[in-house]
Amino acid sequence: MKIKSIEIFRHDLPVKNGPYKMANAEVWSLQTTLVKVTADNGLTGWGETCPVGPTYAEAHALGAQAALREIAPHLIGEDIEPLMVNRAMHARLNGHSYAKAAIDIAVYDLLGKRFDVPVSVLLGGGRVEEVPSYFATGVGVPDDIARIAAEKCSEGYKRLQIKMGGRPVAIDIETIRKVWEKIAGKGVKLAVDGNRGWTTRDALRVSRECPDIPFVMEQPCNRLEDLQKIRPQIQHAIYMDENGVDLATVIRAAGCGLVDGFGMKVTRVGGLQQMAAFRDICEATNLPHTCDDAWGGDIITAACTHVAATVKPDLLEGVWLAEPMIEHGYTSGGGIRIRNGSIRVPERPGLGVEPDESLFGSPIAEF
Ligand SMILES: [Mg+2]
Repeated sequence: MKIKSIEIFRHDLPVKNGPYKMANAEVWSLQTTLVKVTADNGLTGWGETCPVGPTYAEAHALGAQAALREIAPHLIGEDIEPLMVNRAMHARLNGHSYAKAAIDIAVYDLLGKRFDVPVSVLLGGGRVEEVPSYFATGVGVPDDIARIAAEKCSEGYKRLQIKMGGRPVAIDIETIRKVWEKIAGKGVKLAVDGNRGWTTRDALRVSRECPDIPFVMEQPCNRLEDLQKIRPQIQHAIYMDENGVDLATVIRAAGCGLVDGFGMKVTRVGGLQQMAAFRDICEATNLPHTCDDAWGGDIITAACTHVAATVKPDLLEGVWLAEPMIEHGYTSGGGIRIRNGSIRVPERPGLGVEPDESLFGSPIAEF
């Protein structure tokens, strides 16, 4: 089975009750980029990449489209084998993992349909019917965030993440305290996500002033060197998210004991083939992690869910989905949804979701 054609589409995903606020960004609507890969036997596979605005990561919606235009013509005629396609992409473009991820995901979707198995089976096999999700609040007023935390707790979420940064750190500390008052003793794990927004001074203060609250501190500061600096002085567990840009960085962070776990994004690391390797590194080093993406619709959601189904359950910190934050999805009916804090793993071949292509209009490029 070889790649016969590649079409690139774009589509807007408005934020429900926007904006969604993080330390470095405030977003109202996100432009997602979708790729449709058609094989010479007529089967089609879909992939997607959707940066959450231009400041969250070194990724941009138009950058993804430019990168895909650069790569796609050279993939026509390639065998539909994930490792080979990834090598062919690297041979044509350095970096831009988040763009390459869209092709990688589409290739897995195609392969699953070809062999009549869900993508989770291609990734090593999942023995679970559902995976846990977790809820992430935006940056907000302490009392509001505490109320949302209590609500999500009663909806069945076993893990909450609260966003921090971009304001005086005293308000962040007040938020953490108020949230903990609501959820303590309910068996819910708490992650405090700075999204690179704190100075090392702020991160040290948060840890020092909340010694009684067992949260995980996720990507508190901007650089890997900042994490190195605070690591010996901090008593809370530290997770790396945005700094985990590739497997080499993950290996370095895991190998030198810099972090206690990861927030990982499927598209940031380059797609499902890289994500499976990341999962194996974490299992070998006994480090927990999430399987998320920064934003995106049901195709990304399905990709995250399939890989999460293959993670050793005690190391899986959950799957974050943008779905509850998106005003209009692009799958009619059978999309992937969170119920009681969990997500059912799609059982159909491939990713198990089909977008309503008529919503996307004409492709912006075809090869
Ligand atoms: Mg994060």
